[in-house]
Amino acid sequence: MDIRARSHEELADWMALLGEPRYRARQLLHWIYRLGVVDPSAMTDLPRDLRARLAGLIAPPDEVVERVAAADGSVKLLLEYGDGVAVECVLLRHGYGYTACVSSQAGCAMGCTFCRSGRAGLVRDLTAAEMMGQVLAMRRQTGARPVNRIVVMGGGEPLANLAHCLHFLRLSTSSDGLGISPRRLTVSTCGLVPGIFSLAAEGPPVTLSVSLHAATDELRDRLMPINRRYPLAQLLAACRHYSGATGRRVTAEYVLARGVNDRREDARKLSRLIRRAIGHVNLIPLNPIPGGDFERPRDEAVAAFARHLLDEGTAVTIRRPLGIDIGGACGQLVATAGLAGEGAGKPAAEQGEQARAAGPGDG
Ligand code: SAH
Repeated sequence: MDIRARSHEELADWMALLGEPRYRARQLLHWIYRLGVVDPSAMTDLPRDLRARLAGLIAPPDEVVERVAAADGSVKLLLEYGDGVAVECVLLRHGYGYTACVSSQAGCAMGCTFCRSGRAGLVRDLTAAEMMGQVLAMRRQTGARPVNRIVVMGGGEPLANLAHCLHFLRLSTSSDGLGISPRRLTVSTCGLVPGIFSLAAEGPPVTLSVSLHAATDELRDRLMPINRRYPLAQLLAACRHYSGATGRRVTAEYVLARGVNDRREDARKLSRLIRRAIGHVNLIPLNPIPGGDFERPRDEAVAAFARHLLDEGTAVTIRRPLGIDIGGACGQLVATAGLAGEGAGKPAAEQGEQARAAGPGDG
């Protein structure tokens, strides 16, 4: 029994089946979601004999095969599943608590040209339990501080794994689960338009973030193959639908690549494009990937781009590069299966010597 993706009802039925009072389900839920504990032997308010029985019935937590801590307090974990597939997730420290950045797939099929996660294609979808397992594994790292924000912005495209993602989002927001407010949960998509409509109809009203990265179809076609299927006009219509249906502001991510999409003209086009569809732009200075074609603009160019957007009346923030020294930044997460040695020959300058410590996928 994998207890990480079960509702209160299901766990209560299971307890009844084992001849236990149904209220034991509450105790289990408290251990799992409030304390991050899935090992029954540590659940000290359960009767001893039940703990022993459960030990044989509950699937053990996913194995943390590697843990790397960054100077800024971020932690990257590499988890390995029973079938040998591995994924990374990142815990980002903020003043008030932690943000868990969760992977939704091992690998990715979307093929964005600047992103490392999809280099080797899709390995497989992750289940809701596996996604929750990442949060619980990160929860075990935080001591007394809570994980109070989740961003589904790790490896993979969440809306290409919709059913599992919806289940994960419901568990995360349910009072029987993590109890995180939908406002503190963000799903990032490269722009799968039908998925956005499904999320609006079926999901909790989480924050939707769209990876835009270009203000014209011509450029976006080149950077992100998904744009040929769902061009900008359709994507922006889906964003307007999402905010209308959920009452939530949609945000955009915009990776800045030097000489590609970082000119004043690009900022102007971007502002006009998103008007009335997207309320906020989060700029991500590109994290160069080994053997990639793109470079990060200089800090001054990033700041200037932000100013241009502001001048056009667009709200903008620049994403802090948390976890960059551990290969934990945007677009750097990899499922290590099949990627060992992939980084050979990468320029040492951008990612620093510490990248070596970040495991086979980064070495
Ligand atoms: N598939 C989802 C979520 C995963 S990626 C999506 O596309 O939104 C999270 C963010 O990191 C996306 O905006 C993605 O485009 C961005 N990203 C990918 N590679 C990057 C890189 N090399 N540098 C900076 N950001 C990158």
